[in-house]
Amino acid sequence: MVSRRKFLAQTALGALPATLGIIPLEACSETNSEKKLPEEVLSPMVISTWDFGRKANAEAWKVLSNGGSALDAAEKGVMLIEADENNASVGYGGLPDRDGRVALDACIMAPDGNCGAVCSIEHIMHPVSVARKVMEDTPHVILVGDGALEFALSKGFKKENLLTEKARLAWEEWKVESKYEPKINVEQHDTIGMLVMDKNGDLAGACTTSGLAFKMRGRVGDSPIIGAGMYVDNEVGGAAATGLGEAVLKVLGSFLIVELMRQGSSPQAACEEAVHRIVKKQAGYENFQVGFIAMNKKGETGAFSIQPAFTYALKTEKNDNVNEAGAFLKK
Ligand code: ASP
Repeated sequence: MVSRRKFLAQTALGALPATLGIIPLEACSETNSEKKLPEEVLSPMVISTWDFGRKANAEAWKVLSNGGSALDAAEKGVMLIEADENNASVGYGGLPDRDGRVALDACIMAPDGNCGAVCSIEHIMHPVSVARKVMEDTPHVILVGDGALEFALSKGFKKENLLTEKARLAWEEWKVESKYEPKINVEQHDTIGMLVMDKNGDLAGACTTSGLAFKMRGRVGDSPIIGAGMYVDNEVGGAAATGLGEAVLKVLGSFLIVELMRQGSSPQAACEEAVHRIVKKQAGYENFQVGFIAMNKKGETGAFSIQPAFTYALKTEKNDNVNEAGAFLKK
């Protein structure tokens, strides 16, 4: 890891986007700009959902430490979780749909507002990287199912079996009753959503999941839908969601949070308002979980959920924590 000094030294002041708005120009003297930079600015940071976000943050941090971009860091960070066979709700090792197919959803969004996503893609270990290819190599934003798979194969991604023995056994067990009752967990094994600020103050995000365990074939949740599972506006901030995708889709939760921040809300107040919106309009909220994280251009963060026990991981130059978010319902 490089020091904060080094991060600052690596930063070309001339390259600061005019929209950044977090460094008063007068604070940057030509003679000793590094010394005069306010302490809290241009410090790279990463926030992501759940406990496992901590190791994903560390992976993203490696990219940032080498002067890499927020976009590369977000992709690399969540890829670690996609490849983790012990994680039952993201990528390889994810629990299958009710027909035994591991169908994955992911999206990615760049500081320039470009974005890409794949829905219900099978056999590909890193859907977030396919989403990035959709963003960079096609005129489209979303590819789904077989089309997404064909595209991935055309780009050199390897076709793999993603159903681990552990996940297959869980599916066999589920089939005994075959109850279509999505268990919205209040434990710590959901989607990974990640928001990254790099040394230039640019923001990017990524989100990837196997979605609800034993879902109907073709079901798509919030995670790959830009504005629902994740959204970034490089002038304002970013947000990401986890939990019952259907509930997040109904309020376009991540977009809502970014728009609230645009209007002056702090990331924390914006996450709370998005949860309140769900609680106010959606019956049965006592029985499902939704959690949001957010980060603004000043590097302020927020997190809030319906049920207690939603955790998020935050990595900055000085901190490397997992915290429990505040919740609408009390323990
Ligand atoms: N949001 C994901 C989905 O609905 C799952 C989760 O985060 O629990 O697909």
